Amino acid sequence: MYAAYLRKSRADMEFEKASGIDTLKRHRDLIKQNAEYRNILIEEWYEEVVSGENIEARPEVQKLLRKVELGLIEGVFVVDIDRLARGDTADQARIAKAFAYSSTLIITPNKIYDPNNEADEEFFEFGLFMSRREYKIINRRLNRGRVSSVNEGKFVGSTCPYGYTKEKLKGQKGFKLIILEEEAKITKIIFDLASKNIGSSNIANHLNKIGSKPRKADVWVSATIRDIIANPVYYGMIKWNYRKTEKKMINGIVYKSRPKHKEYILIQGLHEPIVTKEQWELANSHSKNNIGKSVKKDLAMQNPLSGLVKCEYCGRTMQRRNYRSGHIDGLICPLPHCKNIGSHLYLVEDAIIKSLKSILNEYKQMIIDFEKEENINNSINNTTIEIIQKEIEKTDSQLNKTYELLEQGVYDNETFIKRSNYLKNKLKDLNGKIDEYNLDNMENNVEKIKNTIPKLKYIINNYSIDLSPKERNELLKDTINKVIYKKTVKGKGHEKEFSLKIDIKI
Ligand SMILES: [Zn+2]
Repeated sequence: MYAAYLRKSRADMEFEKASGIDTLKRHRDLIKQNAEYRNILIEEWYEEVVSGENIEARPEVQKLLRKVELGLIEGVFVVDIDRLARGDTADQARIAKAFAYSSTLIITPNKIYDPNNEADEEFFEFGLFMSRREYKIINRRLNRGRVSSVNEGKFVGSTCPYGYTKEKLKGQKGFKLIILEEEAKITKIIFDLASKNIGSSNIANHLNKIGSKPRKADVWVSATIRDIIANPVYYGMIKWNYRKTEKKMINGIVYKSRPKHKEYILIQGLHEPIVTKEQWELANSHSKNNIGKSVKKDLAMQNPLSGLVKCEYCGRTMQRRNYRSGHIDGLICPLPHCKNIGSHLYLVEDAIIKSLKSILNEYKQMIIDFEKEENINNSINNTTIEIIQKEIEKTDSQLNKTYELLEQGVYDNETFIKRSNYLKNKLKDLNGKIDEYNLDNMENNVEKIKNTIPKLKYIINNYSIDLSPKERNELLKDTINKVIYKKTVKGKGHEKEFSLKIDIKI
């Protein structure tokens, strides 16, 4: 999750007094632009109304820091690093350490400060008081402490796995996991279905249907199900360092990657298992839930857009085309001589994710608008429906009339067919319109859109080029029915000029 932090400096306040310009609004716009440019969705805004000199006098920074320290935030947008760094040395130390230990990025319009990167001089300049050596030693100590706790079967993570909560151990340091009955029930269902070789997408659908919700999101998606199935915690083990999250920057965009570390610790935990080892292994033995286990399978799917993109001209599924080594993969229509022009595959992939972001914003707006205008809509719609209903009655009687006219010999066969077909189509259209204006239907649609929003958020936050093409494909297919693609201009400088129509699964 990304956050933004805003605070007026003394200079800002003087400027504001002199010019009457709202500096916070200006900063907000700057940050929004920056986030948009980097393709990042800011979920939380912290705006300091007062301008205190130290942390104690800045309630918003306190709230933010607590979340940073818990490792809940991936990056914080600010207009300038001094918005965070100001204060006395003790304040600076707390802030720098919080960011360093949780590997939280500080993102300004000019630069991304990455505490993970030891070569990032400026980050350490920002934390002057803390030498690099000191940071390294503390960090190592921190990790060593964690590893030895794991060796004793204690739980050291910050977020408990689904199905568990944690409890402080009596008479000693550390925590152990405790079963959460409600969630454990669902976990059992997941393993039960997976053991029967039911795929993670279907499991997710099933859980959504029975009204279950995961802890943080509103709907289950296949990736979450897969993570649960693959986690050995459920048969009583504790693992550490298994897939440590690392952050990378590619073209100025931050990608979170979870490389599969070969070295990890897996030992008997102090907690009660939810499934037996046999059940766990059976659930994990089915390939449907086990992406990445078989190298061959992974190689087989190299197109993250596989089966998703259709040609607007001929309706065929667009295919990945790989050229001689060193060339970028293309996406083309398989029909020879189809006039649709292909693209670089990654450009289409990028554009899809970007479109999902704007669809998400549209959906949010639709819901706001709907709720605002519900009453107005109600009366307008009722009047509209009445008008359409009258039109339907009229068309109906016209249609009846055609039969009479045919019997009376006024219409010949051809005229009759033409006229009655026209009227039948008109009736169909009118009935369709009634559905559109029917408030119940509208409410239904809004409800469906509401349910789609968490799915969209999930894919936007989790989609990353570090996932395998197959994993990306599954993420996309969780949310998208199909994408219709069209490109009419060829050549250099027109690479991004194609149109996409995205059909969201609602
Ligand atoms: Zn085509």
